[in-house]
Amino acid sequence: MGAPPTPVTAGVPLRPNPGVPPAGRALTRPRRRLLAAAAALVALAAVGAGSLLDLRTPTPRPADAPAGEFSATRAYEDVQVIAARSHVAGSPANDQVRAHVEQQLRGLGLETAVQDTVAPEAGQLSGAAGGATVARVRNVVARLPGTDPTGRVFLVAHYDSVQTGPGGNDDAAGTSAILEVARALSTGPRPRNDIVFVLTDAEEACLCGAAAFAASHPLAADGGVVLNLEARGSTGPVIMFETSKNNAKLVDVFGRAAPHPVGTSFAVEIYRALPNDTDFTAFLDQKFVGLNSAYIDGGAIYHTPLDTPAAMDRSSLQQHGDNALGLAREFGRTDLTDLRSGYDATYFPVPGGLVRYPGWLVLPLAVLAVLAVAALGWLTRRSGRASTGRLAAGFGLALVPIVVAPVAAQLLWLAITAIRPGYAELLDPYRPIWYRLAVLALAAAILFTWYALVRRRIGPAALAVGGLAWLALLGVLLAVAVPGGAYLTTLPALAGALGGLVALRTRQTGPWPVVAVTAAAAVGVVILLPTVVLLFPALGMAMGGVAALVAVLLGLTALPVVDLLHPQAGGQRGLVALRARRLAVLPAGAAALAAVVLAGVGLAVDRFDAAHPAPTHLMYALDAGTGQARWLSRESDPQPWTDGYVDGVASVADDFPGLGDGELRAGPAQAANLPAPKLDVLADTSAGGERTLRLRLTPQRAVRLATLHVDTATATVLRAEVAGRQVPVEPRAGRWGFGLVFHAPPAEGVEVTLTLRPIAAQVALRAMDASDGLDALPGFRPRPPAVGVVGSHSSEMLAVARTYPL
Ligand SMILES: [Zn+2]
Repeated sequence: MGAPPTPVTAGVPLRPNPGVPPAGRALTRPRRRLLAAAAALVALAAVGAGSLLDLRTPTPRPADAPAGEFSATRAYEDVQVIAARSHVAGSPANDQVRAHVEQQLRGLGLETAVQDTVAPEAGQLSGAAGGATVARVRNVVARLPGTDPTGRVFLVAHYDSVQTGPGGNDDAAGTSAILEVARALSTGPRPRNDIVFVLTDAEEACLCGAAAFAASHPLAADGGVVLNLEARGSTGPVIMFETSKNNAKLVDVFGRAAPHPVGTSFAVEIYRALPNDTDFTAFLDQKFVGLNSAYIDGGAIYHTPLDTPAAMDRSSLQQHGDNALGLAREFGRTDLTDLRSGYDATYFPVPGGLVRYPGWLVLPLAVLAVLAVAALGWLTRRSGRASTGRLAAGFGLALVPIVVAPVAAQLLWLAITAIRPGYAELLDPYRPIWYRLAVLALAAAILFTWYALVRRRIGPAALAVGGLAWLALLGVLLAVAVPGGAYLTTLPALAGALGGLVALRTRQTGPWPVVAVTAAAAVGVVILLPTVVLLFPALGMAMGGVAALVAVLLGLTALPVVDLLHPQAGGQRGLVALRARRLAVLPAGAAALAAVVLAGVGLAVDRFDAAHPAPTHLMYALDAGTGQARWLSRESDPQPWTDGYVDGVASVADDFPGLGDGELRAGPAQAANLPAPKLDVLADTSAGGERTLRLRLTPQRAVRLATLHVDTATATVLRAEVAGRQVPVEPRAGRWGFGLVFHAPPAEGVEVTLTLRPIAAQVALRAMDASDGLDALPGFRPRPPAVGVVGSHSSEMLAVARTYPL
């Protein structure tokens, strides 16, 4: 047996396998080889464990912690007050939260005031439908004056919550952390720079509070450093996931001053590609620089009634506060006049700190990695470990697991959601750990199976070089397209190539080849393992394929170590080799079995119950003009509870332009006795072919938002003013070609002035408002315990509309 007589593989003429792997001719005896494998794997496991331990959140500090420190226990007392119930912008509950926040800051002796204004939305909100969006906002702003300011540091979080939940994490975490940081800072010596605490309103609706502060608050006039604190889940490490552009100096302060600096330049790139927004967006277009941080694991409760104080992992709050306090102190003493660099930094966490290097190094490093892998390939061929043909085959075949593993992970999730359709409405399952492990086991199974199949024919050396070549090439691609992510493959490829070169040079000398390839693989583990672990919560199981891809890349960097589990290529002969080869199939089989078992455990453990309800989405829309009412749902595959309300598909864009375009599930409903918003004409003048209507839109009940749309077949809107503020008149698609959305309208109503060019004798206006809560509606049956509410901005919305011809 031994080297198989394999003249041709995949059309590539090959010489008999010459392959002694880089990892050692000294390891020809199976027992010594297994021993080396065990040692290498234990070392890698230790390195991996170290990297993951580094992501651990700190123990919450007690209520009697020293005054200058951040105590999650003290901050949590505020969490319980802030998130006692849902407090959407404009609601009486939100007034109470604001009063509490204001009182706490005043109690610290800080100059505190409420900015009360009407402001437009910041940036482009993914969920924004209906047209120009404005809100009445009331931001709480407090200042700790600096001794010799070079600028201002802004600590920002939003105190409002969504309508569907109390916001125990989102964003009671940020708000309470800022209150505790303010307390800690005001007890110590005054900082050099001004520290401004900004608790914003209406973040959930439209980022309008932050937009108002950034654009028009006197303290914001000269810009400064913004530290935004968020939570998109209930647990996990706090990740610094977004920065302003040219961030090198900011990242340097972050690495130096945050006690638990978890953040990667790759996260910045991912976040830019996601449709999420936070208050930080409002500061990005202005004269601010800054950092945005959040914890994001436990995403199943995001924006749902389950986002309660009790759901909060207080060690995540401790990390949020520790980092915010450390950064506030450091930025409080730094000269803020020159915080912009000419470039972005690449950065990522390693045990004990944050690695960072300038962005202009990214492309040279990527090219260096390609050259190093090319040198390894050339030396591998020269040393007789692989022919050119085998190297080419190794390169081609290494693409197989890179493609197959992510596809398989996506298929696995498709299968799981087919069994449990409710998952489609969740950001992540309630207990995702089993599914995450299943995806990793699946990736491992694919990698091991692939390796066991192709190793005999191609040889370990050619496959190892082929894998590194893909990593190096991906590094160049990333360096050009998403530079912040290039380190993920460039550095492991570079390390792998150097490890391989060392192994080739030291092949006769005892343990050194194994040490070299293990050290190289350790670099891959340090960089890629935390990435895999952080990617799962960041993207959710629906995009588990991305984590599977990174896991396979990690596996490719460790191929020479994986190879030690296989019999020496070209080594032993006869029965021993046969037995060893059979043993080599074990890892693949074990991983495949683990994938199936873990997915099964996930399905068995993560069932919907009262504490983990199946998410459902329901709205109610009443046309007060016709008396027709409808139940509506955004669920694509309605849950049984929702099915009791909806029986077909409908588009409501013509009747309820404020609910957005697109198809919804719909069903008939009893008409409730609810008034539509009133539209009063305050003035109606015409001049020069233009008609100017001064209107007052007044909701007749407690509502979250009011909308006004114009039928552009009856008039063209030339100009529009809301509460004295000009709004854009960009045309919308469909019948209601102009629209505006006003969040948190005051009880006395909103004044709107429209300048029109009439087309028909009368202009048709559609007024709608929306409140929360369906409980009191006729025909509504309360959800049974295991049925919950989807965390979306339109869940439980009750809309009433009517048309006014004027
Ligand atoms: Zn939110």
